[in-house]
Amino acid sequence: MAIDVHIIGGGPAGCFAGIAACLQGKSVLLSEEHRRIGEPEACSGLISKSGLDSLLPHMNYAEVALNGITSAKIFSGNQEFVISPREEVAVLVSRSGLDQLAAAEFERQGGKLELGRKVTRSFASRHIIGADGPASAVADHFGFPKISSYVACMQGNFDYSCDNPHQTQVYLSAQDFPGFFGWVIPINEEQAKIGLGVSFPSHPLKYYRRFLAKLGVSSRSSHEFAAVIPTSVRKKTAMAKSGFSVLLAGDAAGQVKATTGGGIFFGAQCGFLAGKNSGNPGAYEQEWKSAYGLDLAIHGYLRSLLNIGKGEPKPILLSAAKALFFEDLLSEKGRMDRLGKMLEPSLPLSYAEIVARRLAGAR
Ligand SMILES: Cc1cc2nc3c(=O)[nH]c(=O)nc-3n(C[C@H](O)[C@H](O)[C@H](O)COP(=O)(O)OP(=O)(O)OC[C@H]3O[C@@H](n4cnc5c(N)ncnc54)[C@H](O)[C@@H]3O)c2cc1C
Repeated sequence: MAIDVHIIGGGPAGCFAGIAACLQGKSVLLSEEHRRIGEPEACSGLISKSGLDSLLPHMNYAEVALNGITSAKIFSGNQEFVISPREEVAVLVSRSGLDQLAAAEFERQGGKLELGRKVTRSFASRHIIGADGPASAVADHFGFPKISSYVACMQGNFDYSCDNPHQTQVYLSAQDFPGFFGWVIPINEEQAKIGLGVSFPSHPLKYYRRFLAKLGVSSRSSHEFAAVIPTSVRKKTAMAKSGFSVLLAGDAAGQVKATTGGGIFFGAQCGFLAGKNSGNPGAYEQEWKSAYGLDLAIHGYLRSLLNIGKGEPKPILLSAAKALFFEDLLSEKGRMDRLGKMLEPSLPLSYAEIVARRLAGAR
């Protein structure tokens, strides 16, 4: 049977591209270089609950949920900043489990999965979707503009008890995590994922060892890895060239939150749009930018603001943010992914209400 769409890469972007292309009635081949989808796992697996809910029509994520996250504590210098919404905001999932669910759904929709095949130039169709991660061979082969910034990360799973097993910890320090941050994400009461990122050309290993020592972690990691995260979107994410239409999605396109490095939500959503618009580069680029371009641009802008201080906000800015009740504002109105949605017309009114409530409470 002729293949209408050839997708390279079986992560969230590739699987969701495949699901969407199948829903369009296309015959789809998805090639993944590893022998098992989702492995080796190189991700924390923290995703907003709203992001997961938006994927729900395609999968039941409860099967792969590990822990519910209700709040985040940010450490910067000697200050702490707590964002604590009333409801569970994020879910820690088994990332390999999530990818396997998505791949199973792709096959259920009639897609063909080809495992253990690395594709760099021999394509099965004229319509290609490059969902092959941050070092995309598809993007290189077709001469797409380069991604301009990356962070290098290390992470391990450790025996480590957090005071609050449902609160993530975020560490900002220009000296300890230049250009990014460190994190502790509880898996349960006794274990946590501990990791960090530093901007290129810094190497993460010495920072990682220092971070573990500072946290007093002495146990060995059960799963440790190093990986990179793109923190800028490519200037072009789709093109027609030499008789091929080529669409990039997910990390291959740089569709990642530059603030946190989270890319599951945007990768899956943009992948879905790539599958829907396979064969039509202009329509894809236009649709994903109008759906998510503003959100990603705001994440990018916030990252460049943070990077003025190499990833560490000036103490006075944090003090001001606390004094102006930004903890409450972010707790009530904050969004993990769709920052553009926060800019709704009612935001100033909500903020005024929060300030009034806090001032009344403080009196
Ligand atoms: C340390 C770390 C922690 C992270 N934590 C989070 C988090 O908590 N939440 C979050 O939302 N995001 C997180 N991310 C980011 C997230 O992992 C990525 O944004 C997400 O995986 C992007 O999905 P993708 O499908 O675009 O790419 P990938 O998941 O990288 O999938 C690409 C796939 O393509 C395959 N492939 C590559 N080249 C080829 C080839 N030539 N031929 C065939 N197959 C190929 C790869 O094997 C891989 O399976 C983290 C990243 C890192 C490094």
